[in-house]
Amino acid sequence: MIEYTGERISRKETRRRSDEQGRLIYLFTLDNYWTLDGAVGGSGAEYINHCCDPNILTVIRNGHILYMSRRPIRKGEELTVDYHFSKDIERIPCKCGAEKCRGTINLLI
Ligand SMILES: [Zn+2]
Repeated sequence: MIEYTGERISRKETRRRSDEQGRLIYLFTLDNYWTLDGAVGGSGAEYINHCCDPNILTVIRNGHILYMSRRPIRKGEELTVDYHFSKDIERIPCKCGAEKCRGTINLLI
């Protein structure tokens, strides 16, 4: 559907950018080392909001992050994706309103 693009940055640079204040964060973890920063060269995929029951599925293939539709999407329906934030970082509350909402953007396990 759309590829999540952005500048490819190392673990150290990811930490540095995450700590920067007053900056919009569009970081997507690719693997144990690399992160894509959608704020630099993003395709637009970085603006898609989180939902616990999203209509988009994330597929990581050959170093690329691909957003695929999980189910038929109605015209005008908002595109959403599950951010799968680590359970080990600060917990961010979720108010997506989905029936299956887990109450946080982070993974529980
Ligand atoms: Zn939710």
